[in-house]
Amino acid sequence: MNIVASGSAAIARAAGRASRAMGRGGGTSVPGVVLLRINPRAVDTIADRLGGGSILVSATNGKTTTTRMLGGALRADGAEVITNAAGANLLSGVAAALVGARPARPDTACGLFECDEAALPAVMARVHPRAIVLMNLFRDQLDRHGELEAIAERWQAMLLAPGALPRLVLAADDPAIAALGDGRECLWFGLDDPAVATGALPHAADSTRCRACGTPLTYDHVWFGHLGDWRCPACGSSRPPLDVAVIDAGLRGATGSDPLIRTPDGEVILHLTVPGLHNVLNAAAALAGALAMGIRADVAAAAISQVPAAFGRAEHLVVDGTDLVLLLAKNPAGANENVRTLLLDPGDHHILVALNDRIADGRDVSWIWDVDWEPLLPRVSSVTVTGERAHDLALRFRYGGLDPDHLHVIPDHRAALASAIAAVPPGGCLEVLPTYTAMHDIRADLVARGAASEFWVEG
Ligand SMILES: [Zn+2]
Repeated sequence: MNIVASGSAAIARAAGRASRAMGRGGGTSVPGVVLLRINPRAVDTIADRLGGGSILVSATNGKTTTTRMLGGALRADGAEVITNAAGANLLSGVAAALVGARPARPDTACGLFECDEAALPAVMARVHPRAIVLMNLFRDQLDRHGELEAIAERWQAMLLAPGALPRLVLAADDPAIAALGDGRECLWFGLDDPAVATGALPHAADSTRCRACGTPLTYDHVWFGHLGDWRCPACGSSRPPLDVAVIDAGLRGATGSDPLIRTPDGEVILHLTVPGLHNVLNAAAALAGALAMGIRADVAAAAISQVPAAFGRAEHLVVDGTDLVLLLAKNPAGANENVRTLLLDPGDHHILVALNDRIADGRDVSWIWDVDWEPLLPRVSSVTVTGERAHDLALRFRYGGLDPDHLHVIPDHRAALASAIAAVPPGGCLEVLPTYTAMHDIRADLVARGAASEFWVEG
């Protein structure tokens, strides 16, 4: 590192320590903010020192889980991984991770950064990644990001900017992501298991027109949301052939999945403790990312299988003897996938749904009307709704035909959690579906009750 970059990094680290000493939220992004202010080029310099190069992961849904899985694969391959904390996924968070890193062997160290969709172009311009994993674009937090169309255009412009193009690892199943690979060499990942297809596009589907000619797409199979085996009846553009293909999703209900995945290195089987088809796709994305970084498929598959669930994402806990699973649901696509995962388990369900409308959740909560809750409602014995918009949820469930005797409206999250747990019979499980800030509220209650640890410790 040159002297200027090194001096800037030292000042930025000191700012991070000062912030922590003042008790300001762990100081996660503070050193990055300081570094970007005093010497933005220092980020480039530090990133360029990493002998293993860097890989970026972005998507609306699943980027935290996929980044964790990919981190497992990189470590199993012997790399020292420099990574950003979940949630610190703007350029400042990436800069802070780079500033804080003191790799023992810089020649083999590797950067792995989860990027907010809107922040990705800025991160890519500074970090010069070797590879980039782009997974999906769903409607999410509209008031923060603008339309997903705008994000897709900014990503396209990012790939046209001068400089070396990273290895592109793209979701073939998402038409908006696939369009980014047009005319470029890519590693395509996706799903090829018709047994898990749903009949049709759900109401929540976001991106169903041909990117080339605007004609509505035809789907041979829909996996979830607008992801599927798509083609355009007008211009003939279609889902690219898969390099990394899930040929058997191996769903096991709420306990996990055992997907069989075909890769250019042969077939591998994974054993995931995170449930649902969306996590099977997250694992396929991580596996494809690992291949792009030169890791063997069998090494990556074994490592990905060892990665536990991320904070609040299919996290299993026990509270006063009652099992509880936290399933983050922050937009229609994620919530639909959670509903589908819960339906894999026969028997009665006890659910707690928590809806806030703070900025990190998206101020507009109308998306709850796009979630297909109806198949679940006849199978629930108790539904507790909570959060700042508990009454909106109550209305949604009443419209969905839920028996009012089964519905409990308790806006205070602490009281709602206690009541929902009390409603679960012995041996049962409480399934908690919170939005982003509601997840943090409920997790804080669980920490207070001794059921969860306060901070996620990177494993
Ligand atoms: Zn077309």
